[in-house]
Amino acid sequence: MCGIFGIADHAEAADLAYLGLFALQHRGQESAGIVTSHEGGLLSHAGMGLVAEVFNRQALACLPGRTAVGHVRYSTTGASHIKNAQPLTFNCSHGPVAIAHNGNLTNALEVRGRLERQGAIFQSSTDSEAIVHLLARSSGSIEEVLVEALKTLEGSYCLLLLTPGKLIAARDPHGFRPLVLGRLNGSYVVASETTALNLVKAETVREIEPGEVVVISAGTVRSLKPFKTPEPARCVFEHVYFARPDSKVFGRNVQSVRRELGRALAREMAGVEADMVVPVPDSGVPAALGFSDVSGIPFEMALVRSHYVSRTFIRPTQELREVAAQLKLAPVPEALSGRRIVLVDDSIVRGTTSRKITRSLRDAGAKEIHMAISSPPITAPCYYGIDTPRAGELIANRRSLSEIKKYLDVDSIHYLSREAMLAAAGGTGFCSACFTGRYPTPTGDYEKASRTGG
Ligand code: AMP
Repeated sequence: MCGIFGIADHAEAADLAYLGLFALQHRGQESAGIVTSHEGGLLSHAGMGLVAEVFNRQALACLPGRTAVGHVRYSTTGASHIKNAQPLTFNCSHGPVAIAHNGNLTNALEVRGRLERQGAIFQSSTDSEAIVHLLARSSGSIEEVLVEALKTLEGSYCLLLLTPGKLIAARDPHGFRPLVLGRLNGSYVVASETTALNLVKAETVREIEPGEVVVISAGTVRSLKPFKTPEPARCVFEHVYFARPDSKVFGRNVQSVRRELGRALAREMAGVEADMVVPVPDSGVPAALGFSDVSGIPFEMALVRSHYVSRTFIRPTQELREVAAQLKLAPVPEALSGRRIVLVDDSIVRGTTSRKITRSLRDAGAKEIHMAISSPPITAPCYYGIDTPRAGELIANRRSLSEIKKYLDVDSIHYLSREAMLAAAGGTGFCSACFTGRYPTPTGDYEKASRTGG
């Protein structure tokens, strides 16, 4: 997954992009980069690591210019390598162009293979580079060639393109990932989430619509709608887990959706007897509050999160994940000893973290653990950017509910129904393929792998 941020025509473009990327850091921690347009050319700085590690005062001072695009990356395709850090910059018949991509194409390998047979040479292993080659091969205005390129792509994309004169934003016709347009005095801002707009004090103008291309140049905004039938399939998992709670995503505040998920969960679990509702921090907190609202069972922060360890699951190797999981969450024995708890989390993916948590709660003296998950079982991989790539790694894909209960060593387990989840998120027009295995686009590159459970 990734986060993208762009700002057009502002004296502090690079500084604001830097701040915007901080607000989007939860969307990707492997690399960060900013490109500015200055005196007819593009300037770039990118590196591996967090925004705070990649940029310092000096690096930002080397990025003059009034228009900037930024990117934070977590790889779902392509290796974790500096060559894959974005924004990607290139020179072609359209002049210098930078591109930042959030999403995951499902036909990138096919497109790449076709381009390679025609002589294209690829520098990185990201699917985003296929877009670069498509752009470089056509003639016309940059927005015209972009529209042509988009028509050959399948899967999810939110794109920002920067040329010396234009900032262009595009969202795929399903609108899998969020993208919003904002305004800061006379400047336009585009970001993955409203939290980034809020941070730089930009007002949110509107969502960029599924299938829309927005061209910002010379202080004006032009909207193109090249797709005849956009079919919204917004990612419900953005609401369940991924987006920041202070963001408004797909028209709804994430925190209130999560609280509603918790309320619905409590209604489905009416009758559960417990002394307290304990969230897995931070992702389970709003749902646990909602659970407590409806059930009347007191909310208790009986698990404490260390803020000096970054999100564990997001680290690519299993080994690092396991070490980090132990560092991250500590139980409060005095609160837990002899108590019956409802443990609330937003989702279970592999089950490894959840198992460590329930074990530590038992070790701290919890008498009963009733596991409450504010989304349905994840049974299928996401091909649109969330890091759940292999069916075989998903606990709910290979184990039954009673096996999961046993594996996690809990007294009971309940997952929220899909109907209740969708109702809380806003009803229709969502992708919930990770819960159903029904994908809204052809899955091209991935079909073979998923058939074999890979
Ligand atoms: P596990 O027990 O290993 O399946 O981990 C479950 C935890 O991972 C839950 O607390 C979720 O909030 C979190 N989680 C779910 N999806 C993701 C994701 N794509 N990236 C990082 N963490 C996630």
